[in-house]
Formats: sequence, C-alpha cells, structure tokens
Amino acid sequence: MAKILAVTNQKGGVGKTTTALNLCAGLALLGERVLLADLDPQGNATTGCGVVKQDVRRTVYQLLIGNASFAEARLRVAFNDFAFDLLPANRELAGAEIELIELEAREYRLRQALDGVSGEYDFIIIDCPPALNLLTVNGLAAAQAVMIPMQCEYYALEGLSDLVNTLKKVRAHLNPVLEIEGLLRTMYDPRATLTQQVSGELEKHFGDKVYKTIVPRNIRLAEAPSYGKPALAYDRNSRGAQAYFALAQEVLERRQRKEGNTA
Ligand code: ATP
Ligand code: MG
Repeated sequence: MAKILAVTNQKGGVGKTTTALNLCAGLALLGERVLLADLDPQGNATTGCGVVKQDVRRTVYQLLIGNASFAEARLRVAFNDFAFDLLPANRELAGAEIELIELEAREYRLRQALDGVSGEYDFIIIDCPPALNLLTVNGLAAAQAVMIPMQCEYYALEGLSDLVNTLKKVRAHLNPVLEIEGLLRTMYDPRATLTQQVSGELEKHFGDKVYKTIVPRNIRLAEAPSYGKPALAYDRNSRGAQAYFALAQEVLERRQRKEGNTA
C-alpha cells in the first residue's frame, strides 16, 4: 500500500509545492511508483510538471465532487529518465470549497478517491494549499503523515504551533493515525544568524522529526517550474536538485526503518 504524505503548511510561499514536486521526482528516480496530487487551485504543482492547467478537462476537482473517476483525472508525466502520475488541479478547484459543503462525507472525498488505487503506488504525495480549509482537511484526512516545509524565520515557530493544533483536531475527529512525518527546512541561508537560531529551536522541540536534509536557497529550484520540469530534470547537479534527491532518500530510509520495526 502507498505511503500517503500531505505536504502542508498554512503559511504561503514556504516551499510546499517545490517540495512536493521535487520529492516526487526524487522518489521516482529511485524507482518508486509515485502519484502527485495537486490539491491547490493555484495549480502550481501541475504547471511545475509541464502540464498546461487551463487545458486540463478533468482534474482533482471533478474527482472530489464525483464527476470523474480516478482513471479519468490521472495523467502521466515523464521526464528524461523518470516518470510519475499526477492528479492535476486548476482554478476550478476553488469552487470545490463551497460545493463540498453540500456533499456527504465532505472531509473524506480525497481519501475515498485514493482508496482503490493505493496499491498501485509506493508513495502518494499531496500538495496542499496555503490555508487550513476544506481542501487541506481532505488532504489531511487522506494522509498517513504530514511533511511540513518551513523557512527558518521568526514567525515560523508561531505558525507551526497553529498547525500542530490543527493536526491534533484532525487526529481527534477525522484521522486518528495522522502523524508528523517530518519538518523540512527550506530556502535555507546559513549566513543568517536568525535562521540558525530558529533551526536550533526546531531541533530542540521536534528532535529527529526534523529532517537531516536541509534545502538551501537555490535559484535553480525557482527557475525549473518555468520550464515545466522538476529540478531533477532541469538541472540535476544543482544544489537544490541534489538536496531534494537526498530528501527522497531520507524519506525512503525512514519508511524502511519504520516498517522494519513493525514487521
Ligand atoms: P503557496 O503557499 O503559494 O502554495 P508554496 O509553499 O507551495 O507556496 P513554493 O511555490 O514551493 O511555495 O515556493 C515559493 C516560491 O519560492 C516559488 O517561486 C519557488 O520557486 C521558490 N522557491 C521554493 N523553494 C526554493 C528554494 N529552496 N530556493 C529558491 N527558491 C525557492
Ligand atoms: Mg504551493
């Protein structure tokens, strides 16, 4: 069965989409069967895969409201030497917020959609929007664990406690197994003293939940989406691409260690 990870942080622009996309690329390159689910009406993960979002007829939106099957909404995206599946999104998804309210089991629509296909993948990575809304709740209800990208800046820790409280509520009401898989330091600039302080605080509070891999600020990561490619396809040797490859390895190791412990 797939390990389902929601990449989430209600704060905007912290690197969620960059992380979701490049983690998928890294895992695919390591031979894992991967699905990227774009749960953000901005559709940035979709664009980052080279898919023209305005042209996609069936997206995760139709899937959530029951107007398309998983097979109809899924696309295959292929790069030089790796490929993965994508559930695309575009602006239409913004309407789901309201339409879902009317529907039965509105928090579990994504989970139900993924239920039947979990066996086809090793990892399903969900890119959440920058809000704690019903779309994000669908992501959190479908996932086994969350990955939290964050910039090591002053307000980050405050935002983190809001997120941790939300996760507690989701666990209590919707998804008792939901865990924090890990916290990822993104856009890291080691020259800033504050960055180092916040990074230290994170390690103090969250211990080994903080990934060893740190993603540096790297222009290649920001350029790659405009070429419709993950960084590992755009400039594999860049520091940014290499960091996400290392993250994919770390995620895989964590999974193997965990399953080794429970086997
Ligand atoms: P949103 O909350 O709007 O969905 P997000 O959390 O998904 O944003 P991204 O879109 O991944 O964040 O990143 C925000 C911007 O920063 C993008 O332009 C992206 O290309 C750039 N970026 C992300 N990570 C890095 C990095 N490590 N180095 C340089 N630029 C980065
Ligand atoms: Mg995003």
